[in-house]
Amino acid sequence: MNAYKRDYARRMREMNPDYAEKEAERHRERYATNPWYKLSCLISAWAGHDRWVWIFKELPWKTHSLVQHTNLVQHRCESCGLPIRRNSRLIWQSIAQPDSYSCHACYMKQDPEVCMPKGYEDIRGMKALVARKKQLDELDPKASRAEGTVDGGKK
Ligand SMILES: [Zn+2]
Repeated sequence: MNAYKRDYARRMREMNPDYAEKEAERHRERYATNPWYKLSCLISAWAGHDRWVWIFKELPWKTHSLVQHTNLVQHRCESCGLPIRRNSRLIWQSIAQPDSYSCHACYMKQDPEVCMPKGYEDIRGMKALVARKKQLDELDPKASRAEGTVDGGKK
C-alpha cells in the first residue's frame, strides 16, 4: 500500500467506523482462507519486533536473509524493480547474490516451503516456531542455526 492509499485508508477509518470494521473483516477472512497471506503477515509481524530478531539472525533461511540495518541505502527489488522503503523492516537480501534485494511481497511469491527456514517449513505460528527450535536444538545445536552466526561455526 502506498502512502497516499494508507492516508486515505486512515481518513476513511476515522470518518467511518463501518469502514474500519469491514477492513478488519477482510483481513480476518484473508488470514483464515489464504495460507500465503497468513504466512506473509506472520513473518511481517516477527520482523516488526526487536525481541524476535533472533528468528531472522539464527534460523537457516534458504534464499534470502532479512536486512537488519536499513537506514542508509535505498534498495530496489530484484523482481518488481520498485524501490523498497528505506525504513522498511522487510528488506530481503539474496544469499546467493548479496547485491540483490527483494521486497516482502516478491519474497512471499516463492513457495511457502522456500519462504520458511530449513526445518521450519510447516510452522505457522510463534508458539510452534519456538517449540520447533527447542526440538531442533536438542537434536543438534548447530544444525538448526544459520552457518556463520552465533559461534561462527567454529569449535
Ligand atoms: Zn518486489
